Amino acid sequence: MKVIHTKTELIEFLLPYRNSSKTIGFVPTMGALHAGHLSLVEKSASSCDITIMSIFVNPTQFNDVKDFEKYPQNLSSDIEKLKKSPCDILFAPNSTEIYDKGLNERTYIDLSLLNNILEGKKRPGHYDGVVTVVYKLFSIIHPDKVFLGMKDYQQVLVIKELIIQKKLPIEAIGCPTFREPNGLAMSSRNTRLSEDEKEIALNLSKALHFIVSQVGRSTPKMATTDAINLFLKHPHIKLEYLQISPKNDISHEIEDWNETENYVVLIAAFVGNIRLIDNMVFSK
Ligand code: AMP
Repeated sequence: MKVIHTKTELIEFLLPYRNSSKTIGFVPTMGALHAGHLSLVEKSASSCDITIMSIFVNPTQFNDVKDFEKYPQNLSSDIEKLKKSPCDILFAPNSTEIYDKGLNERTYIDLSLLNNILEGKKRPGHYDGVVTVVYKLFSIIHPDKVFLGMKDYQQVLVIKELIIQKKLPIEAIGCPTFREPNGLAMSSRNTRLSEDEKEIALNLSKALHFIVSQVGRSTPKMATTDAINLFLKHPHIKLEYLQISPKNDISHEIEDWNETENYVVLIAAFVGNIRLIDNMVFSK
């Protein structure tokens, strides 16, 4: 695996692949790699000629400076993990390499609704930062396919919107969420949880499973209230949202199970000081 730190070197390195029409698969990440990230690399390698992962902790997508400063980083251990994966290139730029015009630079697209609900509402400016960095990375790499985790459900919708609005010839592929054997969704942020907090964090996936089990048994509203009472009323959990929506339209909560066939239930909560998100897609 080749490790590249500069745009110029990456563009040069990719030129022969581009000229020979090889398909380029891209996995953007912020590092602190776990099996979920590596599953995206596997998925890319299975359908593309060359797979590139980027590791860049993007300062402009953090609405909380402390969260940015404490974000886990361990490039050397990430490189070791990637060497055992089918990743061909790791692009690990520094901040000035990406933000050569300064950190106030933004690419704005019309995210109207997505910026005002759920993650967009709770983390003002977050998706503007995501769009900015992903557009920059797309412009350097020009991938044919980008592999994204459904764990960040709303982010997949945002990046698909970026691709549509900028008319980019890129296919965005949403990939399943990898979980610990006990059900906890893998996340780089989990490394900041204490052992006790990891146990407490299990309540998030338990609440999601509970809601999935309630389809047709109680109303969506009752299922949500019961899930909160059973799993989320814990002194160390601060719930931000728990919402059941049609799978294809997260702009509103469903009132009854007849609205559509396929749903998604989305959750965000602080466990101690760590903000976690998770979701599950399910059917009637
Ligand atoms: P991050 O490093 O957290 O920005 O995530 C980089 C990519 O990995 C994003 O597309 C995430 O949605 C995806 N990802 C994060 N956690 C998981 C997981 N548990 N399973 C699958 N993909 C994930």
